[in-house]
Amino acid sequence: MIEIRGLRKTYRSRKGSVAAVDGVDLRVGEGEVFGVLGQSGAGKSTLLRCVNMLERPDAGTVSVGGLEMTRLRRGQLRLARHGIGMIHQHFALLSSRTVAGNVAFALEVTGAPRAGRKQRVAELLEMVGLTGRAEAYPAQLSGGQKQRVGIARALAARPKVLLSDEATSALDPETTESILRLLHDLNQRLGLTILLITHEMTVVKRICTSAAVMRDGRFVESGTITELLRTP
Ligand code: ADP
Ligand code: ADP
Repeated sequence: MIEIRGLRKTYRSRKGSVAAVDGVDLRVGEGEVFGVLGQSGAGKSTLLRCVNMLERPDAGTVSVGGLEMTRLRRGQLRLARHGIGMIHQHFALLSSRTVAGNVAFALEVTGAPRAGRKQRVAELLEMVGLTGRAEAYPAQLSGGQKQRVGIARALAARPKVLLSDEATSALDPETTESILRLLHDLNQRLGLTILLITHEMTVVKRICTSAAVMRDGRFVESGTITELLRTP
């Protein structure tokens, strides 16, 4: 579902250059949950942002669902991105819109026909366990509820792939567990492929089928969770 080959991304500034991603190869099969584990500065976020082309790689190829992202023009890329949802550490919700309004906005952006929107919003909120909070504003929600809105919004366009950028890093352990359980459910129920980045081994152990450890822009280890845990 996701195939990355020879990916490189270097940031250049007056202070010098940083090879944030320095030759990464990765395959994530349909329905897999793949974790990229590493410390701050390892290049995880850059790697993730190259998958939906929020960052343009300097070299290498990225394909999602058989579509080579690195070759698409702007208009095609916008469409391709509808097939890739993304959730964030700090949720990135619109504070002036209600829960329903935030999800409806995602539907609007992807050009979903107006007629079915209200029902689809209700369906998405049910999927993430937020029925009853539709009229609340983000400021009235707990962190876990905010992330549930983030997940509902990410799933609006029925993506095949979900990118998770430290989605539980701002949450306490109990809330983290409930969000991971939700992601696991969605993976099982929808066959959603998930690529997640995290600095927490517990997250990887909890829901990933395979993972890689990233350091200085490279994968220093990768394999199934069983294989990784066996490594001394
Ligand atoms: P991680 O997500 O693992 O913390 P990042 O991908 O954010 O790692 O960063 C990898 C490296 O690239 C770091 O050294 C970081 O300082 C650098 N970097 C990330 N984004 C930028 C940017 N927009 N401009 C310059 N350097 C950047
Ligand atoms: P906001 O003012 O926060 O942008 P609105 O109340 O104008 O939000 O609603 C925006 C869209 O959200 C509506 O067009 C509708 O499709 C959807 N919506 C609003 N409230 C609900 C609800 N309770 N259940 C389902 N969908 C809703």
